Amino acid sequence: MARHREAVCRLCRREGVKLFLKGLRCFTEKCAIEKRNFVPGQHGQARRAKMVGYGVQLREKQKMKRTYGLLERQFRSYFEKAVRMKGPTGSNLVIMLERRLDNAVHRAGFAGSRAQARQLVLHGHIRVKGNKVNIPSYLVEVGDEITLKDKMHQNAMVLEARNLAQSQGLAPWLDIDRENFKARVVALPRREDVQTPPMNEQLIVELYSK
Ligand code: SF4
Repeated sequence: MARHREAVCRLCRREGVKLFLKGLRCFTEKCAIEKRNFVPGQHGQARRAKMVGYGVQLREKQKMKRTYGLLERQFRSYFEKAVRMKGPTGSNLVIMLERRLDNAVHRAGFAGSRAQARQLVLHGHIRVKGNKVNIPSYLVEVGDEITLKDKMHQNAMVLEARNLAQSQGLAPWLDIDRENFKARVVALPRREDVQTPPMNEQLIVELYSK
């Protein structure tokens, strides 16, 4: 699957906010936003241009897309599905992205970032209701039990992620057994459950509605 190849901290610097793409590092003083919060590139240290209209909408879309590690075509297809669903399109979009298996694995604290979670899924380390699921875009349902393969329980990256997750906010839609690396989906995520990074999905709806 095609992915962003550039250094991910540049993506945060471009958006001017922490997108939490690198796990533990995002919570330390090594975070690039803490050290140099200006746009990457030759003229990056000039003052951030004040944006209005299309520029603001575009940045909001890029922020959400990059947070969930998606490319334009995939993101657009989620948006189109969100339009066809009942209820507000923006909330539908956020909820659908939250339901992705790679995101759920990250929220459960089995991986420090969505990129790490995607690797766990792609490498076949994740089970849903006991069955191997290696599709990061699988949408979890209420009642799904997500588990990490036993042989990964002592993996250094996984243990670091678990420690990190203990100090982070919980995903109220997951019932998490951290000791045994199990998470049950007890409800579908609600829009208000998704607080980081702050996103204004209405701007994305406006952008795609032009
Ligand atoms: Fe890099 Fe994480 Fe900081 Fe973003 S939040 S700049 S990914 S360390």
